[in-house]
Amino acid sequence: MTRPIIGILGGGQLGMMLSNAAKKIGIKTHIFCPEENCPASGVSDFFTKEDYDNKKAVEIFSEQVDYITYEFENIPIQTIDFIKNKKKIRPGKKSLLLTQDRLTEKKFLNDLNIPIAPYKSIETADDIKDAHREFNECIIKTRTLGYDGKGQESISAQRNYEKIFKNINLKSIIEKKIPFEFEVSVIIARDIENNLCHYPIGKNVHKNHILKDTFSPIQLTEIQMNKLISYSKKIITELNHVGVLAVEFFVTEDNILVNEIAPRVHNSGHWTIDACDVSQFEQHMLCVAGERVKDPILVNNAHMINLIGDEINNWAGKSNSENIKIHLYNKEEIKEGRKMGHVTYLFNKEHLFE
Ligand code: ADP
Ligand code: MG
Repeated sequence: MTRPIIGILGGGQLGMMLSNAAKKIGIKTHIFCPEENCPASGVSDFFTKEDYDNKKAVEIFSEQVDYITYEFENIPIQTIDFIKNKKKIRPGKKSLLLTQDRLTEKKFLNDLNIPIAPYKSIETADDIKDAHREFNECIIKTRTLGYDGKGQESISAQRNYEKIFKNINLKSIIEKKIPFEFEVSVIIARDIENNLCHYPIGKNVHKNHILKDTFSPIQLTEIQMNKLISYSKKIITELNHVGVLAVEFFVTEDNILVNEIAPRVHNSGHWTIDACDVSQFEQHMLCVAGERVKDPILVNNAHMINLIGDEINNWAGKSNSENIKIHLYNKEEIKEGRKMGHVTYLFNKEHLFE
């Protein structure tokens, strides 16, 4: 059987790990990215360095591959429209359209009766004032282009709402700060025939709104587990999403709220490379290529630690051992808050995380 070529829009670390996974299963990859020395450029079979708004380049790229996927959700929708045969794009346009804007994403979740943090769209300074009065501690988030906590501001003590409003550059929402017990994410996959599978659920610890650790699997009550899985299944099915998708949740004393949806492989699933028989990256490529999802088998329990900014310096030049797996993203420049790599510590399956 000839294996397909999958085109990937975006060349960051997710594109790099998708390309590596594709190699394992005999799929070729073609990365399309505006940056020459992006993490994925060295590992894919083919590489196009062009801007996403270069219609001609996008068209040529789409002719050279069998299927197209994306590794980040801020691909301009126009780019998707340049690709003539839309059937080639997996996941489809709907997953991108609904998740590129936090407001449409929240409305989508509301329509599905899935609990989320109370929020308001910010149109005037009074909206901030009202939300602050109603919700107490709040977080302002840009509707678009936010990641790793970028574009977020916490509001706690009494503040000058006019000034805050004036400083907002992009359309934003304000939501209640949830006093959660912990955060988890569900990594779930769907194939073209609507078969679903999901990974064991991990707990996520964020520092300064950036993911720092994932511990997987964690102990959950049956009620929590059922809610997490049923909400995730509802979301991926309603989006008609083909491929991997991640749902981030807040777990409170008595409830489960969705924080956000990522229509792609996710940082909190990186541990699956070393601890499962089929990683989230391999799973995604199988789905995009039109193959059946594979129920993952957990081989080890895992603790993944992100290497952020200059933390990478402690790991450069070190080698993997049986229980410590180092992944460096080959980024040209170290920047504060930038994800530079991750390390996965493996444990036997009797090892419990709290
Ligand atoms: P990003 O798109 O940057 O990942 P998120 O909305 O996921 O943005 O926020 C990043 C992190 O900030 C969350 O995982 C959580 O730790 C914290 N956070 C965000 N929103 C809230 C909230 N409403 N209540 C409490 N913590 C929050
Ligand atoms: Mg997030």
